[in-house]
Amino acid sequence: MRTSLQTPIDYLKGVGPSRADLLRKELGIQTYQDLLNLFPNRYLDRTKYFKINELQANNAEVQIIGKIIKFEEIAQKRGKRLVATFKDDTGVMELVWFRGQKWIREALKLNTDYVIFGKTNYYNGKFSIPHPDTELLSEHEQNLRSSMQAIYPSTEKLSNRGITNRVMTKIMQNLFLETKGRFAESLSKNLLSDLKLITKSEAIFNIHFPKNSDLLFKAKYRLKFEELFYIQLQLILKNLIHKSKIKGFPFNTVGDHFNTFYKHHLPFELTNAQKRVLKEIRADLGSNAQMNRLLQGDVGSGKTIVALMAMLMALDNGFQACLMAPTEILSVQHYNGLKELCNNLNISIKLLTGSSKTSERRKIHEALENGELDILIGTHAVLEDKVKFKNLGLAIIDEQHRFGVEQRSKLWKKNTSPPHVLVMTATPIPRTLAMSVYGDLDISVIDELPPGRKAIKTVHRYDTNRLKVLRFIRDEIKKGRQVYIVYPLIKESANMDYKDLMDGYESIARDFPMPDFQISIVHGQMKPADKEFEMQRFVKGETNIMVATTVIEVGVNVPNASVMIIESAERFGLSQLHQLRGRVGRGAEQSFCILMTSHKLSENSKTRIKTMVSTNDGFEIAEVDLRLRGPGDIMGTQQSGVLNLRIADIVKDNDILQHARYHAKQILTKDPRLKSPDHTPILETYRQMAKYKNIWNYIS
Ligand code: ADP
Ligand code: MG
Repeated sequence: MRTSLQTPIDYLKGVGPSRADLLRKELGIQTYQDLLNLFPNRYLDRTKYFKINELQANNAEVQIIGKIIKFEEIAQKRGKRLVATFKDDTGVMELVWFRGQKWIREALKLNTDYVIFGKTNYYNGKFSIPHPDTELLSEHEQNLRSSMQAIYPSTEKLSNRGITNRVMTKIMQNLFLETKGRFAESLSKNLLSDLKLITKSEAIFNIHFPKNSDLLFKAKYRLKFEELFYIQLQLILKNLIHKSKIKGFPFNTVGDHFNTFYKHHLPFELTNAQKRVLKEIRADLGSNAQMNRLLQGDVGSGKTIVALMAMLMALDNGFQACLMAPTEILSVQHYNGLKELCNNLNISIKLLTGSSKTSERRKIHEALENGELDILIGTHAVLEDKVKFKNLGLAIIDEQHRFGVEQRSKLWKKNTSPPHVLVMTATPIPRTLAMSVYGDLDISVIDELPPGRKAIKTVHRYDTNRLKVLRFIRDEIKKGRQVYIVYPLIKESANMDYKDLMDGYESIARDFPMPDFQISIVHGQMKPADKEFEMQRFVKGETNIMVATTVIEVGVNVPNASVMIIESAERFGLSQLHQLRGRVGRGAEQSFCILMTSHKLSENSKTRIKTMVSTNDGFEIAEVDLRLRGPGDIMGTQQSGVLNLRIADIVKDNDILQHARYHAKQILTKDPRLKSPDHTPILETYRQMAKYKNIWNYIS
């Protein structure tokens, strides 16, 4: 029988049922294929041998040549341990076994040269290695085919049950013997030659048994490329299928509303980035496919006007449009802003939120259904079943991470055919991650701020410098500026945080007394109407200081506010700090962001603060955030496969990812069904992955 890589590992020589069970439970290895894909964590230089007198108390993994000169059984609380005295020409140390002593005593010979390998312990002036790998020196010399020894991922249970690294290596050798080390090629000949990649068989062999460091490097590169290539291939395919299967409404005309607005009412010249993004959106809307686009743009980059102009395209083609924002404050602001922009256009715009009155609601529902209403702006209230459109052509979601996937799909059901969807986010997702997580969406980026903005000056101040900071605030207020002071409220219910906020408010009220100063306060425990009232006082310039929690994080636009004080800044995450800072720097004046912290800062906090002080670039900040927190904490990654990568690293292997995506796209553009003979290996591999579900891990 020809061995298939789908054979269960139970059948592999050296495994057997009980080891197979352990490998399944501990490492999820079911088949030959899974075992081949158990890539080593690292490699040990097998040409390096330590002398006992060179050992250091650093728990290093070492390889030593020497002899066992005696065995001793030592009673301990439970059972006994076996201790061997191990000697080389520089000293003695101990080898210790807590289990399997009988077998060890029978198997190991006294006064014979062994190569032992393991992690050193240092205790009471003595070195020891618990459960070392042991190999007769004579055999070791014969077996030594590679100077680099693969070290496999392991678990405590595995090593306790005798599946040491040496056993794993032996099992792996058996696998290569049984398969003859020949594995079907999974990439096309063109890819191999264009990218100078080594073959699958060479790569798999060298990842497990590197012949030299050059081949190891090539093996890693090839396998990382392959892994990322198939994720990208899959995402791009999903996107293509989506486009061919899901018909969108084609918006063929650029009509009155758009043109009139563009020619006569645009309050400023669009930036090049805004123009480019509008073109991208226009192309999507004009095609026959449904648009599914993510618009990334740093705070203040001007996404709103782009949203409006996209909505005008919908209107010009006889469709309705809606814009959703995650909070009441934000949707009110959008509503006011857009209403003003559309003043001279003959358009009807309404606002629908949780606090809309019943009578108002009823009117809106009616106007939506009979088509009198052109644009609906609102919060989650828009998603309620009662809200029905006559013909919704475009739905825009601002600040997407507050909306779940489920809610997005609710939008789809608002029509016979799904509307075009534009998702806007000001939380820059690192490019690397966006490609993996949102690779099936099309992505547009506004990477340019409107002209004339002064870069926000960011500084770090310790709590002990508070007096100076207060003086600075007073000076800025004298110049007519407004100031935000933000407190962390990590959990809305946390009483401690709430107390901090109220204490802070009181002390600020003392430092900035009425009637010379007016202070607003906004936090999550207030009623929406009160929040709105306080917010509006600040927006209108009636108050000088806004004391708030992170409710003001998203979107709020007060151009005259030029100072952002963030209290306990060490408690905020990087992206949150960046979002908060984005509340200032919206007017013509020089703006400032002051990060207040205590003196006690973790390394991680220090890096966050330093990053904030050194750059205003949201993408750069997002990259640092990704490095600090890992992909697990970044929005959207949980459901996607980037956390289950076997060999590639989503952060470090960014370059390879770019190549992989580029080539996957090229191939699918030329040959979307992978019909050409050169692409057969790709098609086969893809089918195989789909069949054995490996690839579905990557679907979000
Ligand atoms: P965000 O991308 O954060 O939603 P906004 O759409 O709120 O940004 O825009 C921020 C501010 O910049 C607004 O006051 C807006 O009127 C202004 N703005 C947007 N685009 C331009 C532009 N091209 N030139 C000048 N000002 C602009
Ligand atoms: Mg916005």
